[in-house]
Amino acid sequence: MSIQYKSISQLRAMIDAKSISSEELVKETLKIADSLKELNCFVTMNKDEGIEKAIEMDGTNTSNSLLKGIPLAQKDLFCTEGLRTTCSSKILADFVPPYTATAVEKLENAGSITIGKTNMDEFAMGSSNETSFFGNVHNPWKKGYVPGGSSGGSAAAVAAGIVPAATGTDTGGSIRQPAAHCGITGIKPTYGRVSRWGMIAFASSLDQAGPMARTAEDCAIMLNEMCSHDTKDTTSLDEEIPDFTSDLSTSIKGLKIGIVKEFDLSMLDTNVVKVFEESKKHYESLGAEFVEISLPNISLSVPTYYVVAPAECSSNLSRFDGVKFGRRCEDPKNLEDLYIRTRSEGFGDEVKRRILIGSYVLSAGFYDAYYKKAQQVRRLIKNDFDSAFEKVDVIMSPTTRGAAFGAGSKGDDPIQMYLEDLFTIPANLAGLPALSIPNGMEDNKPIGLQLIGNFLQESKLLQVAHNFQISTDWHLKRPDGEIN
Ligand code: GLN
Repeated sequence: MSIQYKSISQLRAMIDAKSISSEELVKETLKIADSLKELNCFVTMNKDEGIEKAIEMDGTNTSNSLLKGIPLAQKDLFCTEGLRTTCSSKILADFVPPYTATAVEKLENAGSITIGKTNMDEFAMGSSNETSFFGNVHNPWKKGYVPGGSSGGSAAAVAAGIVPAATGTDTGGSIRQPAAHCGITGIKPTYGRVSRWGMIAFASSLDQAGPMARTAEDCAIMLNEMCSHDTKDTTSLDEEIPDFTSDLSTSIKGLKIGIVKEFDLSMLDTNVVKVFEESKKHYESLGAEFVEISLPNISLSVPTYYVVAPAECSSNLSRFDGVKFGRRCEDPKNLEDLYIRTRSEGFGDEVKRRILIGSYVLSAGFYDAYYKKAQQVRRLIKNDFDSAFEKVDVIMSPTTRGAAFGAGSKGDDPIQMYLEDLFTIPANLAGLPALSIPNGMEDNKPIGLQLIGNFLQESKLLQVAHNFQISTDWHLKRPDGEIN
């Protein structure tokens, strides 16, 4: 029986029934990955070590995690000891970390097997996976279209059925937007739920890791292992971690879903609006109730983000100077030449653009007008959400304005690209959990539905998503036209 497109739960059942061993599963996974090389999902494979670990898992009873023996892919932004970690940048093209990120370590300690590192936008800056030094990732659903970004390699690897789940990170939408464009499920947890230790930082106050999988149920299984309180990350939350799978099937009768008055649906493709209205009807049939809410400052989210994120990126990326990490230019004449050429040669255009914007908004004379002001607006946006969550349990919107766009079609206009994250950025600014599930199709390209939850309410979000998925089949559709 083919293992392609199988969920974690299905693979678990196969391993438990001894119809497949983890070794066979990993070998088959690597074969599928090889046959789909043209998608360019992976930067580095972990072949021999992956098979070795699978053999070890077949012969041990040390873990009773649902992930034991299951192959996973890791976004190439998580440090992995002894396994190249590039952030899809030339400057880190040969970087082999001496330690493993907490989130990945926890998944691996549960017995899962890292089969490779996935391609992404360089340093997680982008929405199309076109800024990678290692080339574009292709959307498995339609030739010539982007998979979204920045976690485009992870999204495409799951959508193409290579792995049942993968890790992603989301600073302004990088789990949810590619999940939407690739027809899979992805959740960005509450800021601080998953340790950032060992994640190469883009914008530290916004970055959050999370799972990408075919179903909400599989995301819950992944989250159970990924979340932790980690003293190595000072922003890690010391909060109780529930079993995210336990409420999945609880009915959502009486659930109050907020619809944001200020989200202007005329900015959306007509099919996205149509599909959104259909999903509302579906939730009504499940017993949910819709309530209009107001987030008065929401329209300031994208401009606020594009001050805060570049500011933090310019500071975080200053460590890549050719001295300690990664690539160094050839024959530097002096220290200044070393810095200038290492960074000029090592970073791509989008990363340079962000560093320039960030340095500008943080510079003396502009700090108050831009950075401080952006932080103040960010607080107002957070306050808007606090008031809204007094009235509703979750907030619903489309994940993106349209389905996946053509490769190269937004390349010349960074603003158009930045607007891709119109609906996803607010949750990052407010530190709230949010997910995307597939809820429709346009011309064989998936469309996504976003649900935003209150602080620490991942279980609620997953419950609302799971209720949708057990009564619809959008998440079961496959790029090859079959249905799981
Ligand atoms: N597309 C957004 C950006 O380029 C978000 C990226 C992300 O979430 N990592 O900044």
